[in-house]
Amino acid sequence: MTEIPEDHPRQESLLTRHRIEEGVEKGITSRQGLIAEGRGEAFDYLLGERTLPSADDAARAAAAHLLLADRPVLSVNGNVAALVPGEIVELAEAVEADIEVNLFNRTDERMRAIADHLREHGAESVKGLAADARIPGLDHERAKVDADGIHAADVVVVPLEDGDRAEALAEMGKTEIVIDLNPLSRSARSVAVPIVDNILRAVPNVTEHARDLRDADEAALERIVAEFDPKDALREAERAIRQGDLE
Ligand code: ATP
Repeated sequence: MTEIPEDHPRQESLLTRHRIEEGVEKGITSRQGLIAEGRGEAFDYLLGERTLPSADDAARAAAAHLLLADRPVLSVNGNVAALVPGEIVELAEAVEADIEVNLFNRTDERMRAIADHLREHGAESVKGLAADARIPGLDHERAKVDADGIHAADVVVVPLEDGDRAEALAEMGKTEIVIDLNPLSRSARSVAVPIVDNILRAVPNVTEHARDLRDADEAALERIVAEFDPKDALREAERAIRQGDLE
């Protein structure tokens, strides 16, 4: 990998880009994933490449939802696998969630490459390969999920999900947590908990909140969930972008 000087002002985004490029080379990330990355970078730049207080509140609400859930599932696509494989495994352990590979452009080869990659990063079991159930309202390939995974889940983390699928999962009655840097994206606007933050910062942050809340009682978790307002979170992110004080 090319050396990036540590004091380079865009060090984090350059590192991210390299991870995505490597993901494409390894057959984990699709070429469309490169475009998604570019779009994400632009929003991160506008947000000041930091976690807003409102995104931190969302991360805490996400942790509370996951700890309250009966069957939480973390959905992983090619960008997520390339950027935060170890961090996803840690979050799954912290909240006792399953991990399921779920791709927009599904190929068996890429499904297997991602599952292997996650196992190399410590995942004990990875769902998604059975594909024995469907999400109603989506076309065949994009509807495929595991019957005992996303299909049966009550709370699903769908980082970087596309709008159609986020809406279809919401129709199924699932509580969704989306991580997306674009506060205007359809997915961010259609879910219970939109975390408008870079996945690199958001996933470890949810894990930290989950560890912090591990001993909280159910009533305290319910309160955190009830006090969170997704519209406020989106409004705050949009305000930060519009009024940003970029250096
Ligand atoms: P929608 O259908 O919800 O409007 P879209 O189809 O426009 O979404 P895509 O281009 O499919 O969106 O997905 C990319 C999304 O993922 C963008 O909204 C982008 O901001 C976001 N994204 C990309 N990289 C990251 C990242 N590292 N962390 C968080 N979000 C990211």
